[in-house]
Amino acid sequence: MVNSVFRPPSPLAFVLHRLFRRTVASAALTRTGKTLDLNTITEIATPRLRSELGAWRAGDAWLGGGTWLFSEPQPHLSRLIDLAGLGWPALRLGDSGLEIAATCRIAELDALALPPAWTAAPLINQCCRAFLASFKIWNAATVGGNICMALPAGPMISLAVALHGRCVIWTPQGAERRVAITDFVTGPQRNALDPGEVLRAIELPAAALTRRTAFRQISLTPLGRSAALLIGTRAPSDGGFELTVTAATARPLRITFAALPTAQQLAQRIDAEIADELWFSDPHGAPAWRRHMSLQFAEQIRFELSA
Ligand SMILES: Cc1cc2nc3c(=O)[nH]c(=O)nc-3n(C[C@H](O)[C@H](O)[C@H](O)COP(=O)(O)OP(=O)(O)OC[C@H]3O[C@@H](n4cnc5c(N)ncnc54)[C@H](O)[C@@H]3O)c2cc1C
Repeated sequence: MVNSVFRPPSPLAFVLHRLFRRTVASAALTRTGKTLDLNTITEIATPRLRSELGAWRAGDAWLGGGTWLFSEPQPHLSRLIDLAGLGWPALRLGDSGLEIAATCRIAELDALALPPAWTAAPLINQCCRAFLASFKIWNAATVGGNICMALPAGPMISLAVALHGRCVIWTPQGAERRVAITDFVTGPQRNALDPGEVLRAIELPAAALTRRTAFRQISLTPLGRSAALLIGTRAPSDGGFELTVTAATARPLRITFAALPTAQQLAQRIDAEIADELWFSDPHGAPAWRRHMSLQFAEQIRFELSA
């Protein structure tokens, strides 16, 4: 039988417990009324305007949806700067293309209806659903957070690379610069941002959105992260073919052909452009298997887009 008699804590345990609670409570600040357990965080800034972003300090981090920041200890951080209050419009459609705010949630992007001429539309949904994550993450995680994380399995990176995405970056000096997504993600958890720079938006040009697309993705286990995520696209104007290889490689790559290649030409280019050390290795898949799956998917994509 379980002994249900309540035993009061010893005086020492009681004092230690109170001390612990006080330390955590003093550091545990609130975001939308909920406490955080990142106990090195002493401040959360909530700017409403660019002019309120203030000076960047060591120990600062931008806060997107927090799905990664709050998922593991961040002992090097002392302040979070919440981007949500800046009120950037999540999605803007125009003649030149689609602008996705860095703070746009995955669920918002997934719900977007695009003009019928933008034949790449299904690719957006395919990439939104390529997370190892449930709707709970989709509703919190941001597109910018996914891109800045620069994980090989970041599906917003795959999407942006396939559709010629450009990153709009705000510098701490008040300027703006643009970087192609292929230059923005430089390796696993490495990006091209300098300290204090923030990703403001991702621009997808209209021409890329009118390409036909084909998508393939695999994980080692049913609920695993993507181990290979490949996207093929073809231009309606000249039939040019592009292959985007992500998740299987340490950084994203886009391989361009003026016309549809033969199976042999495609396989040769993949091996020529992706050096052995670029095939990614982690518990989600061995490099040789990732290369094997990428070659298979590439050929399936080539065939699908040959029609
Ligand atoms: C269950 C689960 C499953 C997941 N599955 C995947 C997956 O399949 N693939 C994957 O890639 N990730 C995955 N993640 C990791 C993470 O949730 C996603 O990468 C997510 O998109 C991060 O977005 P966020 O807005 O929550 O980022 P945050 O946690 O807010 O931030 C992530 C990083 O980006 C920085 N950052 C955020 N926004 C900006 C900005 N605008 N400018 C500059 N820096 C910024 C932050 O400072 C931080 O360093 C998963 C996480 C969980 C908990």
